Amino acid sequence: MADVAFIRAAGDTTIIGLRLPNGLTPPLVPSSLVFDNEEQVHLDRVSEDDGGITSFSTEQVPPTDLVGRRVEFRQWWSVESFDAVADKSRSWSYMAAPPPEKHQHCILDWVTISTASEVRSGWYSDDSWICPDCHQRYIVDDHLGICGGA
Ligand SMILES: [Zn+2]
Repeated sequence: MADVAFIRAAGDTTIIGLRLPNGLTPPLVPSSLVFDNEEQVHLDRVSEDDGGITSFSTEQVPPTDLVGRRVEFRQWWSVESFDAVADKSRSWSYMAAPPPEKHQHCILDWVTISTASEVRSGWYSDDSWICPDCHQRYIVDDHLGICGGA
């Protein structure tokens, strides 16, 4: 759970300050704020961390005034997922999906990759698969700014 300390607009983005519990494992983004039983706001970047309050930026505007509320903080990726994306030395090969009995899951959003699913190709490296959407967003575009690119 996280307590919402402040929310402010900064151009096209919204900055959300959260008081997070101690002992969270990285990565803190991508993540979501969950309240009223729904995933409501996706957090894309950590913009500042002053120790007590961690500021996140998002392209979304929260649907209600969240300041002072306690919400669920849901992290999307494991340490392994983050490392796979951040490791620039790793090379990914574009491949056709395996058959359903050997189906794979994208390590970033868990979408099913198989010849019988909607996602029929993917990027493969070292026993890990990433779906084309995630590959474009997180590796090619480096949406989170974690690949060490410009
Ligand atoms: Zn994916």
